[in-house]
Amino acid sequence: MAKHASGNQPETDAVRAGHIRSPEGEHSEALFLTSSFVFSSAEEAAQRFSGDQPGNVYSRFTNPTVRSFQDRLAALEGGKACVATASGMSAILSLCLALLSQGEHIVCARGVFGSTTMLLKNYLSKLGIATTLVPLTDLQAWRDAITSKTRLLLVETPSNPLMEIADIAALSKIAHRHDALLVVDNAFCTPALQKPLELGADLVVHSATKYLDGQGRCVGGAIVGDAELVGKEVFGFLRTAGPTMSPFNAWVFSRGLETLGIRMRAHCEQAQALAEWLRQQQAVSRIYYPGLAEHPGHSLAAKQQSGFGGVVTFEVFGGREAAWQIIDQTQMISITANLGDVKTTITHPGTTTHAKLSDEERAVAGITPSLLRIAVGLESLDDIKKDLQQGLASLSRAAAC
Ligand SMILES: *Cc1c(COP(=O)(O)O)cnc(C)c1O
Repeated sequence: MAKHASGNQPETDAVRAGHIRSPEGEHSEALFLTSSFVFSSAEEAAQRFSGDQPGNVYSRFTNPTVRSFQDRLAALEGGKACVATASGMSAILSLCLALLSQGEHIVCARGVFGSTTMLLKNYLSKLGIATTLVPLTDLQAWRDAITSKTRLLLVETPSNPLMEIADIAALSKIAHRHDALLVVDNAFCTPALQKPLELGADLVVHSATKYLDGQGRCVGGAIVGDAELVGKEVFGFLRTAGPTMSPFNAWVFSRGLETLGIRMRAHCEQAQALAEWLRQQQAVSRIYYPGLAEHPGHSLAAKQQSGFGGVVTFEVFGGREAAWQIIDQTQMISITANLGDVKTTITHPGTTTHAKLSDEERAVAGITPSLLRIAVGLESLDDIKKDLQQGLASLSRAAAC
C-alpha cells in the first residue's frame, strides 16, 4: 500500500515516489517480472501466508513493481492507499463488488463512460445492486435519487464526451449527509489537473490506459482512497478475485507518471488553442470545451481544476454524414476511440463509444449524430488544424452550394 504523504511537491513525487531500489543499485526502476516469491524456510513461508510477517507471496496479491506504481499514484492523488487493476473497468467493478451488497443502490451520472453504464445496468443489476442515472450537473436530481439503500455516488468529471463539469465538493456533501461514498472517475483530468480527494471525494478511480500511460501502450486501472476502504476492503477483493495489474504494465505506467505534469499542461494548451480555432470555423455548429468562457461549467472547472483538459468535442452542420466526412478526410489524426495519447485521436461517439446505447439514451445523454470528439495530442497544432481543415472546408463548400 501507499506510503504516507512525502511532503514533496507533485513534480517530485511523480518522479521519485514509490521508487524501490534493489541491491544491484540500478538507477531506473527494476521490473519484477515474477509470478511468485520464494521464502528462506518453511517457517517463513507459513508466516507470510498467515500474514504474521509482511512480504510478497504471489503477484496476484502484491508485486514490488505494481506497489511502486500504486505508491506513486497515491502520492499524486493525496490518498493513503492505492490498488492497481487490470483495466479501468475492473477498477470500477472491483470497487463495487468490494463495497456493495445485494439490495444496495448506486446513483450515477448519466453520460459516464459507456461501459460503466453497461456494467451497472446489465451486470451489477443481476446481483441485486440497482443504479439510478441522473443528470450530472443537477444537484437536486442527485438528492432526489438517493434512498436509504444508496451506498455510492459515482461521477466522472469532466464527462465523456460532452465535457460537463460536476461540483465535486457539493456532491461529497450530499453523499456524506446520507452516509454514502462519493467516487470520482478522474481519468480525464488526472491528479495533475484535479484532486478529487482534496475536494471531498472518498474514492478516485482511474483508467490508467489514458493519460497516466500517455502513449497508448497498456491497459490498466487504479483505485485510490483511504487505508480502510481501499487498503483493506478493495485490496481484499482484488487479491481474491484477481483482476490485478501486470508488473509489466505497472512499470510502463510508472514511466508515464514521471511526465504526467508536463504532458497534461501541453495537452491543455493545445486543446484550448484548437477549441478557439474550431469556434471560428463555419462548418462547426457547437463546441464543448470547459476552457471556453461560454461553456456552462467554465467557472466551476476553473475553480476545481488547474487546467481544462485535453479533450475537445464539437458538432458540425449536416448530421452523421458530415461528421464522418471530417473523420474520413483526415490524413494524420488517428481514427480511434482511445484518448490520453501523445497522438491526436478523433472519434464519432454516436457510432463508437456510445453505439450500444438506445437512440433514446443517446438523445438524453446529448450524443447527437453530428458530434465529434478529439483528444488533442502533442503534434504541432498547425498540423492538427491542417488535417481538420480539409473536411471542414469541404463541408462549408457544400453548405454554400
Ligand atoms: C476508458 C475509460 C474507462 C475504462 O477504462 P479501461 O481502461 O478501458 O477499462 C473508464 N472511465 C473513463 C472516463 C474512461 O475514459
